[in-house]
Amino acid sequence: MNNAEFSGKPRNSLPKSGEDIPVALRDAADAESKMGLRLLPLTIGGVAGFIILAIISGFLFASIGPKKNPDSLSSSSSPQVGNSASNANKNTDQNDQVLGHLAYSEAPGSDLVPISADRRIKMRKAAAVKFEQMVAAARSQGVHLVPISGFRSIKEQEQLFFTIGAQRNQTPAQRAALSAPPGHSEHHTGYAVDIGDGAAPATNLVLSFEKTRAFQWLQANAARFGFEMSFPRNNPQGVSYEPWHWRFVGDRDSLETFYKARNIKPQQTPLPR
Ligand SMILES: [Zn+2]
Repeated sequence: MNNAEFSGKPRNSLPKSGEDIPVALRDAADAESKMGLRLLPLTIGGVAGFIILAIISGFLFASIGPKKNPDSLSSSSSPQVGNSASNANKNTDQNDQVLGHLAYSEAPGSDLVPISADRRIKMRKAAAVKFEQMVAAARSQGVHLVPISGFRSIKEQEQLFFTIGAQRNQTPAQRAALSAPPGHSEHHTGYAVDIGDGAAPATNLVLSFEKTRAFQWLQANAARFGFEMSFPRNNPQGVSYEPWHWRFVGDRDSLETFYKARNIKPQQTPLPR
């Protein structure tokens, strides 16, 4: 059981905060609301009608709309009223998706450098430099981070997806739950790396990796080196949890590779320690 690969689906975009609205526009909105007060009695009827319509359409959408994730099919049947605004953005960039996995292009070969002792595992240079610093920092605290898989060509992913899928009698949809279709793996970018714990190789590429010291160390420190877990539990993309799969987002190119036009909103984070 290995080679489990995922890439993400975009999340719905949510309304921006007031801070993102230019002052001029905010003032205009303010003036409009004052005007609205004067017209209040005239508009109450219209507003009430609108609310009723909105509630009805919310229920309709909830009952016919797409389900977020297969795991929830059997559970909650209660409609999510008020969700229609975010659902409107759901289809914005599905053109480049296959079975829920986003498209990624291959890193230029000239930018790939080895990150493993046998030189077979590679990442793009900027990511490799930071990865090595991260490995050294962990090592100095007695934690042994081991790269398992880095850059992967589209051809290699083709093999992983189709050949292994056929060997296991998996349909493409079943296979896609475990492995990204060729052209759709984060590993194509040269920024993604699967990491193991040298002290617990039996946990390589399986969920129990999250019990290792390596994982705990990564959780506490990876962001200092520009790395993040691509698919944490309950990730916004709705992709299965992969504690071993990390990606470099520590420079402009890598950041844009994973975030540009994905409609992923900023996240509140704890204050830096
Ligand atoms: Zn991976």
